[in-house]
Order: sequence, then C-alpha cells, then structure tokens
Amino acid sequence: ATPAATMVGTAIGANHGVLFEGGDVLERVRDVDAVVFDKTGTLTKGEMTLTDVRVVSPMADGAELESAESPEDVTEELLLSVAATAEAGSEHPIAEAVVAGARERGIDVTDPAALQSVSGKGVRARTDRGDVVVGKPELLAEYDVDPSPAEDVMADLEREGKTAMCVALDDRLLGVLAVADEVKPTAKEAVSALRDRGVAVHLLTGDNERTARAVAEGVGIDPEHVRAGVLPEEKSDAVEAIQQDGRRAMMVGDGVNDAPALAAAFVGVAIGSGTDVAIEAADVTLLRDDPLDVVRAMNVSQGTLAKIR
Ligand code: ADP
Ligand code: MG
Repeated sequence: ATPAATMVGTAIGANHGVLFEGGDVLERVRDVDAVVFDKTGTLTKGEMTLTDVRVVSPMADGAELESAESPEDVTEELLLSVAATAEAGSEHPIAEAVVAGARERGIDVTDPAALQSVSGKGVRARTDRGDVVVGKPELLAEYDVDPSPAEDVMADLEREGKTAMCVALDDRLLGVLAVADEVKPTAKEAVSALRDRGVAVHLLTGDNERTARAVAEGVGIDPEHVRAGVLPEEKSDAVEAIQQDGRRAMMVGDGVNDAPALAAAFVGVAIGSGTDVAIEAADVTLLRDDPLDVVRAMNVSQGTLAKIR
C-alpha cells in the first residue's frame, strides 16, 4: 500500500476503535479468507454465572467410600462450599462465578491453603476438608477419581451450552457444577457477515465439544469448523492446521492462552478488554467489545486499499 493509503486506513480504523499495528497489516487483513474465533470472552461475554449444582451419587457397585461423608451426607451446600473454597484461589472466570454463586447462596467461602491451577483443565486445592479437585473429568481421572457417574448430568448441561465441571473431595466424586456465559449480542451478525463474504468461520476453545457446538450453533458456525478441548499450548497448532491448505487465517482472541495462536495466525486480532499479553501478540486491537468490528476491520482495509493507490 502507498503511505497515503496506510495513513488513511489507519486513521479510519482508529475512528472505529480498530487499531492496526503497522502498515502491512491493512493488506494482510484484506487478504484474510478464514476467521478463527476463540469462544470465551471473544464470542461470549466471558462473564460467567453459576447455574447448576448437582449432587451425583456414586454407582451402587462403585468403589468403597473412604471419606468422612457417606453418600447421603452430600448436599448441594456441601458440594458448592467445597468447590468454592478451592476456586477462591483462582482468577479464572469460572472460578469467580463459582465463588460468587456460593456467596449469593449464603455460603461462607474461605481461601484454600494451597492451590494448583491446571491450565485448561481446572484446579486442585488442599483445604480444611481435604484435597479438592474441580474441573474436567480427565483432571479427576488424573487424581484417580472416577468421573463416570457424572457423565449423563454433564452431557445434559453441556448440550444447553453451559460449561460443566466435576467436583471431587479426596478420592470421591461429589457432583457437578455448571456455569453459563452469554453470547455477545452481535456475534451472530458478525459470523453471517463474514460468511456472506466467503470467509470460512471457525471456533477454537478449551471448553468441551458439546458446549462449543451449542455455542457454534447459536451463532451460525458449522459443527465441522469447531475445534474444542484445545489446551492452551495447542491453540497455535490448531491455527496452523487451519492455515495448512493455504488459508490465510485471522485469529480473534482475548486471553493469555490465545497469545501464541494470535502470533501464529496470518493476522492476530485482540479484543481490547482482553489481557495485555493478547494485545501485545496481536496485529490488530479492537477497542470495543464488538465482534462486528472484525467485519469493520475488513471493510476499512478493503475500502482504503481499493480507493487509494
Ligand atoms: P477457553 O479456551 O474457553 O478460554 P480455558 O482454556 O481457560 O478456556 O479452560 C478450558 C476448560 O478447562 C474450561 O472450560 C473448564 O472446563 C476447565 N477449567 C479451566 N479453569 C478452571 C477452573 N478454575 N475451574 C474449573 N474448571 C476449569
Ligand atoms: Mg477467551
């Protein structure tokens, strides 16, 4: 692009809260033919609310129970209280929702003695009541707790688009919690505008397959373009896989765990309300929290590069 086109495009973008970092970014944005959205905090608001607390009884033929509480003693209050105490040490939006939900229900939440966050999977904490694990079923399995009695409950909640997680105390499954997040109001319109231009739209998330598909369906992303259960360190590989057949992908994300994927993409786009790490890794920053600004970024680059030569 000529310096004039770059200046004009950059200025018009800035007026819309779309910050292009450097001159050749406008051209790359013009040439994008795939957009990969992170789910939480990008297509959804990232403000989670605790929606469900379900005690799950172990199967009748299950292993011997060695912990203090017998199955009858496990109440929703106990389940939530145990989980909230573990999550009190985490800053993940899921953790904040669990702690807030517990406090709203009149539960006193104390800080755990020692917390270990397992990136993309959950948390494990040592508490007064024992060792607590909150997170994906595979995380419980890693600590030798069988999550299978929770399977059906989790599947039902996930089909509603909620994120469900298991809660275990010592070596025993207590039950399931779910949190929900709202899709941003313009997410669906942004996806359809991109598809109308012939841009392939993908969803990439650490969340589970069922929840990801429910959200994808709500905004009009095809199920075959959903990559779920992607660990933070795998997100950039997933972008590279999408780019393998010569696609030029724009990755849109907000989190620390999106930064490598933003860097790997042909164009990285950070949501301005997201983390500094994401903004640093990105080529474009969207100051507003609006997915339609992805489309506006493309309009600005195409418009100015076409007119000014
Ligand atoms: P995303 O890619 O959607 O931003 P993350 O990689 O942060 O998500 O987390 C992926 C999944 O790991 C969550 O959907 C959840 O199942 C689990 N998880 C992560 N952190 C926690 C936590 N603090 N408590 C419970 N589960 C968690
Ligand atoms: Mg995110």
